[in-house]
Amino acid sequence: MTTTDTHCPYCSLQCGMRLRAPQAGRPEAVEVLERPDFPVNLGALCGKGRSAAAVLSPAARLTAPLVRDGRDGALREASWEEALERAATGLRAAQQRHGRDAAGVFGGGGLTNEKAYLLGKFARVALRSASIDYNGRFCMSSAAAAHRQAFGIDRGLPFPLADIPRSGCVILVGANPAATMPPAVRYLRELQENGGRLIVVDPRRTATAEPADLHLQPVPGTDLALALGLLHLVIADGHLDEDFIARRTSGFAAARAAAMAHWPERVERITGVPTEQLRAAVAMFTGAGTGMVLTARGPEQHSKGTDTVSAWINLCLATGNAGRIGSGYGCLTGQGNGQGGREHGQKADQLPGYRSIEDPAARAHIARVWAVPADELPRSGRSAYELLDTLGEDGGVRALLLMGSNPVVSAPRAGHVTERLGALDFLVVSDLVLSETAQLADVVLPAAQWAEESGTTTNLEGRVILRRKAVDPPPGVREDLYVLRELAARLGVRRGFPADPEEVFEELRRASAGGPADYAGISYARIEAEDGVFWPCPAVDHPGTPRLFLDRFATPDGRARFAAVAHRPAAEEPDAEYPWYLTTGRVVAQYQSGAQTRRVPELNRAAPGPFVELHPQLARRLEVAEGDLLAVTSRRGRAVAPARVTDTIRPDTVFMPFHWGGAGRANSLTNPALDPTSKMPEFKVCAVRVERAGVRPAEVTG
Ligand code: SF4
Repeated sequence: MTTTDTHCPYCSLQCGMRLRAPQAGRPEAVEVLERPDFPVNLGALCGKGRSAAAVLSPAARLTAPLVRDGRDGALREASWEEALERAATGLRAAQQRHGRDAAGVFGGGGLTNEKAYLLGKFARVALRSASIDYNGRFCMSSAAAAHRQAFGIDRGLPFPLADIPRSGCVILVGANPAATMPPAVRYLRELQENGGRLIVVDPRRTATAEPADLHLQPVPGTDLALALGLLHLVIADGHLDEDFIARRTSGFAAARAAAMAHWPERVERITGVPTEQLRAAVAMFTGAGTGMVLTARGPEQHSKGTDTVSAWINLCLATGNAGRIGSGYGCLTGQGNGQGGREHGQKADQLPGYRSIEDPAARAHIARVWAVPADELPRSGRSAYELLDTLGEDGGVRALLLMGSNPVVSAPRAGHVTERLGALDFLVVSDLVLSETAQLADVVLPAAQWAEESGTTTNLEGRVILRRKAVDPPPGVREDLYVLRELAARLGVRRGFPADPEEVFEELRRASAGGPADYAGISYARIEAEDGVFWPCPAVDHPGTPRLFLDRFATPDGRARFAAVAHRPAAEEPDAEYPWYLTTGRVVAQYQSGAQTRRVPELNRAAPGPFVELHPQLARRLEVAEGDLLAVTSRRGRAVAPARVTDTIRPDTVFMPFHWGGAGRANSLTNPALDPTSKMPEFKVCAVRVERAGVRPAEVTG
């Protein structure tokens, strides 16, 4: 047996784990063990992490390339040579017929830094196409945009998780770590044990909200008004930190004027949160000495997500809660490499190191590293939903390489996105499993995963860590880096696409040097020796930066910027035809689109399928009982799932988890209205009708 220290394949906590594996293969015999020395999770793992080895089994995944003969043919097994040749031919043919941008790339926030980096380079250098974006756009792009606007840099948490228990009060907005990353709950528990207060903002009384000192339960889509209302009270009650505002910020006057238009009674009318609770929250937050606001997808996945996050940042800045230990704003990133995946060039408008693709100096630097003329680098392309929405159209992408994403389940208005994928001339998917999206492909490439290859990820704290290879992939399975090298070669680019992850990382270091997300001083050896290194780390003798902003913010003048934002309604509000709010989210035993976790028996036993959560008052009104099949209909589609009746949700709101495809697909309903800045779709709120369904239970399994 061999023992390898590595990290979980799933969420952004990137828990440390130890894998014990037989030397002679047999992936089904791999054991996941605790790794108590890794500081983020100290050995604790949730059920997803503990059972992660199940997906290594050849029985659970793809083990040979698949190709489709003709548009209506079935997928059949093929050699790697045939599959790669077909993939390159399909991409090339689209470009010859429709221009360079007709071949596109769609990546994922779970890809390692090395894959994300090389995928961006593949689009810009091998395809020379502007058409690239990734599913991380659906994850944290609103927080990223607000972070950059306010602080000049986007790192989800500007401090380590270990700082949370050192705070006096934490406001957790639209975050449910008890379901999404259970080992992180320890930090909230320690906060309260130390005498700190926890305020949770969520339309549902979740397992995270249950032990909170205060739970605010707003109408979905009103977090912006709520934050403005709290700032109004901070100002009105004299809790401003005038000294901090004067020394370390700019733009307060306009933000103050905007907040003053959101007086408590108005905010109560908009949010449904009583004024006494607003006042209690302000008293807790301002009376604590230090305070943090942490957001997750709840306030971010909206057509006003950027402004909403900005309003919460305003609250921190106005009370002096930024740039000192125990205080600040942070975003709890979702996907495994949600942080690193957004830094190195998968985004439509971005080059490695978090550089802008429109910045001449950034283009010149990256062009030098890539040994191509700067004027040959494409410009910005379409954001994720815009790219998916125009697949197969004139002017849109006609041939798509999709890596590490399952938009048939995870994209908003998923029925429409599925149709657009079907309208492509050519689709190639690299994945571990035959996901719902891979089932539509012309070529499917079976990818190695997590424990079968080395690579770095960057966790939600900005800590760059190393997942080490522990076992060989099954015969017939290859690494994504190999796929990119082989496709690039078939497209005529034979240099610059190494298949060795450490070699890619060395190039990434050079590419990121001098950029906002600077990895120049980070190496595999340092990561292993130091349990991860926090970026920015511009030199090998630099210690890394666990805490940002202690001396200055990353703006040109070093000051954090207030944003003057005002409440506006959701893109779609309930009406007579669609009278209820729908909000979507996750459950503890499944992960994202479920492509991996739905193949793990013990997770399926714990979370076997979708459901519709509704309040007893609404259940009585609709005359439905626990377990009754409900049809939930929006202007975009219909989903069917059994009722789960609970008084933990608002009576005007229903909740569905989004991990399943098929008839119970929550994203059949969601609204693709986009935030104008971040291009985030409005996953978290839309208007629906709910009624009894006239279908058989068998039709609703995911
Ligand atoms: Fe994996 Fe996240 Fe669970 Fe940790 S909390 S074991 S990283 S899924």
